[in-house]
Amino acid sequence: MYICSICNCFIANKSDEIYKCPLKIGEQLNFLTFKMVDNCKEDQFKKYDQFSHLYCKFCNQEIGMRIGKDFSIYKCQIQEAMGSINIGVYSLKQELLFKISQILENSCYKCSVQPLLKKELSNIQIIPNVNAAIIIHQIESRVLLLGKNGLYNDLAEKLWKQTCGNVLLILYDKDENNQEELVHNLATQGEQPQLAELFQSQNLVFLTEILNLDLILQKYFAKSYNQMYPVEIVKKEEDVSNEKCLLLTYYYERYKQIDHPTQDDKLMLSLLKKSRKQLQFECKVQ
Ligand SMILES: [Zn+2]
Repeated sequence: MYICSICNCFIANKSDEIYKCPLKIGEQLNFLTFKMVDNCKEDQFKKYDQFSHLYCKFCNQEIGMRIGKDFSIYKCQIQEAMGSINIGVYSLKQELLFKISQILENSCYKCSVQPLLKKELSNIQIIPNVNAAIIIHQIESRVLLLGKNGLYNDLAEKLWKQTCGNVLLILYDKDENNQEELVHNLATQGEQPQLAELFQSQNLVFLTEILNLDLILQKYFAKSYNQMYPVEIVKKEEDVSNEKCLLLTYYYERYKQIDHPTQDDKLMLSLLKKSRKQLQFECKVQ
């Protein structure tokens, strides 16, 4: 995984990297490209949706650009992380555990799954040596999850202690309920105020389609990473005009090479051309 080189926050997973072919053989690109990134904010670049500047959410440092669907991050602004995350995953539903294992198989996270049995929930052995945990629950009739008579009360308490609060509770609900209302009802009528707190701190999320599990896990890993390796601004900001120029040139050349450009491609090409000119002008003026 990659982290911000200024503040060490989580930025992207290696598995989301998209290989970009250099313009000339043997040439080194000054950026890495990803399918998705985390902890980044975008600004609207000259009001076009195709483009934006990317900034680190924590240190505000400019770290790259989004061009179309590509999130391209300057190499000088990221570094590979050494820290690892070990995750314990728990569920009563075998098929959910199976799905999670499948997703995690191709990721850089070490994960162990443990199927749960209802009758053993009050005295459960937790997976040792983990620093993050996930409980995934399919909402059926019973929704008493935490609190005195809650299904996962003992388990959640143990995991909370083990991971210093790095626990994610995923509620799998095929019906698209109003989530805030459901949490509010569970917290007040169901006497589980903990659920409202977890929801607020993003340690409780809803899953309506199993396909979205990927995204939920990505977000959680980013949060877990930052919790285990706290963000700390370690360097001063850098001027990235030169990096930006190189990046725009690369994409400009790539779009120029498209044989049968669509309307969108043509628009992108003209935007890239304009932005590059503008940037070169700005650089000269300074
Ligand atoms: Zn940062």
